[in-house]
Amino acid sequence: MNGVIIWFRRDLRLHDNPALIWAAQQGHPIIALYIDSAEEEGEWVTGAASRWWLQQSLDTLSQQLAEEGIRLHFFQGRAADVLLQVVRETAIMNVGCTRLSEPHLQARDRKSKEQLAEAGVTLHIFDEWHLLQPDSLLNQQGKPYKVFTPFWKRLRRELTGFPVAETGSQSTPHFLKPSPRQPSGGGSLAELALCDLHPWQQKLAVHWQPGERFAWQRLELFLGGMLGDYPVSRDRPAVDGISMLSPHLHFGEITARQILRELMPLLDHSATSAAAEAWLRQLGWAEFARYVLWHFPYTTDQPMDPRFGNNFWQMDEVKFTAWKKGETGVAIIDAGMRQLWQSGWMHNRVRMLVASFLTKNLGLPWQAGASWFWETLVDADLANNSMGWQWVAGCGVDASPYFRIFNPETQAQRFDQEGAYCRHWLGDEYGQPRRQPLVDLKRSREQALERYQSRVR
Ligand SMILES: Cc1cc2nc3c(=O)[nH]c(=O)nc-3n(C[C@H](O)[C@H](O)[C@H](O)COP(=O)(O)OP(=O)(O)OC[C@H]3O[C@@H](n4cnc5c(N)ncnc54)[C@H](O)[C@@H]3O)c2cc1C
Repeated sequence: MNGVIIWFRRDLRLHDNPALIWAAQQGHPIIALYIDSAEEEGEWVTGAASRWWLQQSLDTLSQQLAEEGIRLHFFQGRAADVLLQVVRETAIMNVGCTRLSEPHLQARDRKSKEQLAEAGVTLHIFDEWHLLQPDSLLNQQGKPYKVFTPFWKRLRRELTGFPVAETGSQSTPHFLKPSPRQPSGGGSLAELALCDLHPWQQKLAVHWQPGERFAWQRLELFLGGMLGDYPVSRDRPAVDGISMLSPHLHFGEITARQILRELMPLLDHSATSAAAEAWLRQLGWAEFARYVLWHFPYTTDQPMDPRFGNNFWQMDEVKFTAWKKGETGVAIIDAGMRQLWQSGWMHNRVRMLVASFLTKNLGLPWQAGASWFWETLVDADLANNSMGWQWVAGCGVDASPYFRIFNPETQAQRFDQEGAYCRHWLGDEYGQPRRQPLVDLKRSREQALERYQSRVR
């Protein structure tokens, strides 16, 4: 092999990157590139907040690579066309990348692989996205799990004995060297225009620092001080008690495998094991979401439970707009929607509340809520988002029972007792007489129950 092309996608890190390790171990000189192939992303083209994250993360990665003497090239277009153009120019016939789990991206990769093979080029796709291959985890009937607890019990058993972190496991991969044949096409990161110059995206910088280095800083901060209180503080949206690693994980700046290695010693230590186990279980939910998407790819826009197809939910643009703008008149719902708009993120407890309010109290389709999250979350993730919405709407795997309709007011009293979260995101509005709630909570709950009962009978 006279070198390899490393095609970065959502593995935006230098360490523990299987494609880079492969190139380094073989001593192959590399060409590093990123392709913005939005036209191949179809209806799941990366949302606005995620594009902001992507741009910052690529910028950081490109600086990290530059420190190793390697230039990150940026291209736009259909992936296979771009790769073939680079191959023609450099005569490098091997491309390495890490696997993505979304069905539409897998389809693109399959097509790209075939197209490249016709030209004699090999696309090496390295697995790392799942902790265990989804088809190796089946229930006793040989079917995919649809309930989290048995899935997790089984996976958790398999994870026992996972290797602990070795000293220096974070160190830069050695022997990375640039290929003397670099492509001349391509442009700058700015030319990809991932972010329009909308001020909405600019303010995300106040809240986040994308990139591998910051992912590790956040992990160290969390494991070093916050983990012990996680079982309690994870439900308190005003408390800085969760990892906030979700966007870093989504973009592969850090992976569940790397985290697991760091977590293993804490799982074995009696003082930390309960909290570490609780946090690991949440990472297990993300693994479950990818597993479900792999086995049931249609669940991105269709309910897992067919009883809830056929217009079970009805769109009402006025109500939907009020929900998006945080103008429903229900304090914790409005605070959550403002947190999302201001920071590109929302606390998990509040995600459940706003999703329950949208699908149950307002009776609007979960798909509409999921699309808004897709556009505005920096951690928008097809697997987690689809599963989270279907779970709350009561139509997905291991769904929350349909009669579980969160009362946002009692939830706020329970998890935001002092009102610190609502005050923070509603500012002066908090404590003032609020607008009339968009719907009566009691009445809309009863109506939702009637609607659900009509389908589950
Ligand atoms: C309606 C709805 C939509 C959601 N959409 C997304 C999404 O688009 N992207 C996303 O990453 N998460 C989504 N979640 C899951 C969850 O809200 C976030 O992962 C979590 O808030 C991220 O915060 P954290 O990193 O501090 O989590 P922590 O509590 O520190 O947990 C660590 C990691 O575990 C995983 N995790 C935790 N909780 C869940 C969960 N309930 N489901 C799946 N994985 C979980 C995440 O990868 C998270 O980063 C959604 C949840 C709901 C209810």
